[in-house]
Amino acid sequence: MKVLVTGGAGFIGSNLVAYFNRRDPAIEVSVIDDLSTGRIENLDGLEATFSKGSILDYELLRDVTRGVDAVIHLAAIGSVPRSVNAPRPSHDANATGTLNVLEVARECGTSQVTVASSSSVYGSNKALPKSEFDWTRPMSPYAVSKHATEGYTIAYGFSYGMKTLAFRFFNVFGPGQPANHDYAAVIPRFLDAAINGRPVTVHGDGLQSRDFTYVRTVCATIFDAVQRGIYSLDPVNLAFGTNTTLMDLLGRMEVALGHKIDVQHVESRPGDVRASQSDGRRIRELFPTITPVDLDEGLAKTIQWFQGEQVS
Ligand code: NAD
Repeated sequence: MKVLVTGGAGFIGSNLVAYFNRRDPAIEVSVIDDLSTGRIENLDGLEATFSKGSILDYELLRDVTRGVDAVIHLAAIGSVPRSVNAPRPSHDANATGTLNVLEVARECGTSQVTVASSSSVYGSNKALPKSEFDWTRPMSPYAVSKHATEGYTIAYGFSYGMKTLAFRFFNVFGPGQPANHDYAAVIPRFLDAAINGRPVTVHGDGLQSRDFTYVRTVCATIFDAVQRGIYSLDPVNLAFGTNTTLMDLLGRMEVALGHKIDVQHVESRPGDVRASQSDGRRIRELFPTITPVDLDEGLAKTIQWFQGEQVS
């Protein structure tokens, strides 16, 4: 079997390549990534054919997709605040880029396309926990672009009978997630500050909540989807129904690190969602063998990685 991971040099992508290598070395993995936020070093020691380039380069994308059985499409420009500052690049990479991935897969007769959408599509819908059948109302250009990602993917299932699957990732965290840039995600940002003795900056009161999902759980689910050829004409929340506020998260980090963390509250950010939690029903039905890694265990592994240890 041959799989192509778009965005494979990024945080989730490189964890996924490692997971595929470990679970079934016979699967040939290739990666296309423009290294805009990903790093080639993330693929050090891994078995994958790497092509540097953009999914907006149609010819290159066709070259790397030909002969592939399954595409796992993770390439995107992430982050809500980044998209609020610059909407068009997010649109181009995430919406137009996904259309390219699907068009090329259709042309090449690829058996299966699995894509990364985001819980941000729920936006201003306050329902909790969130089911895939709840209405969506994106609040940021990023969320709109992810809505397009999943919308196109599902439409290709309906229109062309392609086996497609759109996962809505919730807040994914784990080893390999960078802290050192303006748009870093909350867990690496907090841990980097806490480990290095700086105060942690919390936007708003810290009572906003997230359904944090450890990256290995995400990789195990995608691997299972590819192995068993799972597809769906509805999106699937890739989260298992936890609801953790940022203040609770900081408390868990204090326990794991064994010291107090200084907290500085600043104003809330536009486009940020107040509460996010999946109901976890569809994922458990479709992937009954997946047991999510618990938040404290995932945090402990992430801390080990931040402290320079090898984490499997
Ligand atoms: P990441 O930024 O580490 O990975 C994205 C990768 O895509 C990077 O390696 C980047 O260089 C590459 N890329 C960007 N534009 C590209 C283009 N035009 N052509 C080729 N490659 C391109 O982010 P991540 O956290 O690993 O996210 C992976 C996917 O999961 C993204 O689609 C993201 O929107 C989605 N997602 C992530 C989370 C999360 O919590 N991390 C939550 C929801 C959805």
